[in-house]
Amino acid sequence: MEQSILTEIKNAAKKSLKARHNELADTHRQMDILNGDLFADGELPYFKDKIAQTGQFPLKPKKLEILQINVGYMCNQVCEHCHVDAGPDRKEIMTRETMEQCLEVIRNTGAHTLDLTGGAPEMNPDFRWFVEEASKAGIQDFIVRSNLTIILANKKYHDLPDFFKKHNVHVVSSMPHYTRNKTDKQRGDGVFDKSIQALQALNKVGYGMPDSDLRLDLVYNPSGAFLPGDQTALEHDFKKALKEDFDIDFHNLFAITNLPISRFLDYLLASDNYEDYMYSLVEAFNPSAVANVMCTNTISVSWDGWLYDCDFNQMLDLKVASKVKHIKDYNEEVLNDRNIVISQHCYGCTAGAGSSCQGTVA
Ligand code: SF4
Ligand code: SF4
Repeated sequence: MEQSILTEIKNAAKKSLKARHNELADTHRQMDILNGDLFADGELPYFKDKIAQTGQFPLKPKKLEILQINVGYMCNQVCEHCHVDAGPDRKEIMTRETMEQCLEVIRNTGAHTLDLTGGAPEMNPDFRWFVEEASKAGIQDFIVRSNLTIILANKKYHDLPDFFKKHNVHVVSSMPHYTRNKTDKQRGDGVFDKSIQALQALNKVGYGMPDSDLRLDLVYNPSGAFLPGDQTALEHDFKKALKEDFDIDFHNLFAITNLPISRFLDYLLASDNYEDYMYSLVEAFNPSAVANVMCTNTISVSWDGWLYDCDFNQMLDLKVASKVKHIKDYNEEVLNDRNIVISQHCYGCTAGAGSSCQGTVA
């Protein structure tokens, strides 16, 4: 790719697609592309037809295990491949009223895992109140997706490691690479050094240590238009490098595939990689990964309380195909009876070993 195009993408990426009035900020435009000629002309099969070949259409949920709540799209970073299109300019934030509705569901759900995400969830002014209230519900695994740098971003966040520890929160954090260059290229200048400091602060209070119950996991995603390598090998390399270079410990590494939506779709189109990437995803389709994709055991709640099959569908505004569409009307039995809404972006979840927000799934 020409250097000028790379520079253009890098500079543009300092704001969200929405703030740039980029056409992809319109989810209909993204869906037009995902349903475009490549599939309409039959060059590649629609995802629905592909999974029908192995009798897996329509895709149905299994038992609900994870309730994932997105408390807002505001973030202190503007990462190049963000599927949320998050950034400091995003003002969508969950209100306390919607949080109350979520708490009601958390107290009564059959799900064993609560997964708080964003943006940077910690930037929601009611984040701590919400964590305190939610942790009383006795959920088995309480995940917060922290981007790490938020801990260093402002004095008011410096005590987050202690706060997480107090509520026995399971911290899951993105770390695209164990080298400065690759991490900063994807997430912004200075992100690597701040992430290292944040990991050291988490280790200091006991997170990620070999015998510790304070869980600290990292998430790797590729820095370009290619699929992730083997998760076990990547975890080994990350553990070795972070221990040797910075004395950092963590528990597991999840390797996820970038889905062709939002800012990664923008990157694919601008760098002329969209078609090749879709071919790679389709070629790597693994029918046995379909049964375990995230949407089969998860419900995703948006900042304004709408319900989705997953965080990716949320970003494409593909609401659940159910009579129950909002947290205020939540009914697990009715929701469990739905068909999952799928499209061509779903190939990102079934490529190779398969991947979800929790890493390899098959
Ligand atoms: S830290 Fe996460 S939510 Fe924030 S811009 Fe980066 S990828 Fe998006
Ligand atoms: S993108 Fe969402 S709906 Fe599609 S397979 Fe992945 S988890 Fe399921």
